[in-house]
Amino acid sequence: MTKWLISLILATLLFITPPIVRAQEGISLIASNAEIYFPSALVFKITAQSQSDITKIRLHYQVDRMNYAQVTSEAWPDFTQSPKVETEWVWDMRKATLLTGAVVRYWWTIEDATGDKLITSPEIIRFEDLRYSWQKLTTGELSLFWYKGSQSFADELMVACQQALERLFEDTGVYPEKHIDIFVYASTRDLQGAMIFPREWTGGVAFTEYGLIAIGVPTNELDWGKRAVAHELGHTVIHQMTFSPYGAIVLPTWLDEGLAMYAEGKPDPYLESWLKKAINQQKLISVRSLSSPFSAKSEEAYISYAESQSLVEFLIQNHGKDKMLNLLSLLKEGNSCDEAMIEVYGFDQDGLDTLWREYITSQTQYRPEFKHISVLSTSPGTCSWIDMPSRMVAANTLLVVPD
Ligand SMILES: [Zn+2]
Repeated sequence: MTKWLISLILATLLFITPPIVRAQEGISLIASNAEIYFPSALVFKITAQSQSDITKIRLHYQVDRMNYAQVTSEAWPDFTQSPKVETEWVWDMRKATLLTGAVVRYWWTIEDATGDKLITSPEIIRFEDLRYSWQKLTTGELSLFWYKGSQSFADELMVACQQALERLFEDTGVYPEKHIDIFVYASTRDLQGAMIFPREWTGGVAFTEYGLIAIGVPTNELDWGKRAVAHELGHTVIHQMTFSPYGAIVLPTWLDEGLAMYAEGKPDPYLESWLKKAINQQKLISVRSLSSPFSAKSEEAYISYAESQSLVEFLIQNHGKDKMLNLLSLLKEGNSCDEAMIEVYGFDQDGLDTLWREYITSQTQYRPEFKHISVLSTSPGTCSWIDMPSRMVAANTLLVVPD
């Protein structure tokens, strides 16, 4: 009985072992694989054989991303013509960085001296950060990968992500158009090890078109981490929605950051206090100035983020979800922000500035009664677009002194 079972298993194994791909004409693919040298390179290797000299070998590859037309790249490995060739091509990531988790589809075309040609079947490789043993948690259109911290750490981050997606969908109608993978590194340092040219302040990166986010979240900074993943996810979903045949649209910064902060949930009390201070000291920044990248100075950055979130809330609460979706659609079609706003709301960015100032100064919670807050040290952390103040808050010591 056992012998019979073993023979059956053997027979099955033999049956399912993929045969060598052989062209009728006689070119054989002996071996093909891709090796990951994370984060610096991906090496494609091939061994092929024919009755005559192999004269041409070409690699074709595609990266899984949002595209209106699928782009196939080609590469020609070096080799000496011979009936049996073993060669490789190195994709040097210093020239075109791939983020961890990127999925690459590749195949080969091989030709010999008699003019025969073999095109191999496509294979898939995922450019993974093999330095860590990743665990995976998937809910709907979102997967979370992590290697440090308990299951409940990952569960809590996932809940924050799902709430961010629900909030965006309920209040703006926007949802992920492509599956999103979030890689949670245990620290900013680990994350920077995943990049070839890390910038000191990089705390998170998102490759929207690839549906990939990588972020450093220490296990003892879960509360900050929940906001940070929700924020990056917000950017990613909004950028996917506005991705156009001409590529990614550059949204006005106040709208982009405001929506990402809206995805985080309730305003951060610390940022709220900056908004209040700006109102009382007449230091509000105009909407038009906020359409450009924010100031790197921390005080102005705090006000910029807080104001952006408030502007987006004002638009959603007073003018509804459908208009926000409509605004994003018009921006995606290539309209300027002012054109799109006039069509949707009947006012442009200057009009928004006036209406929002009237609204915000009439809100009782923004009346004076301010406590002096000083930041003892700042070293800006960031999301991939610009500095994210909540990161700075988490990373630094705050001193709250009543006046
Ligand atoms: Zn941001």
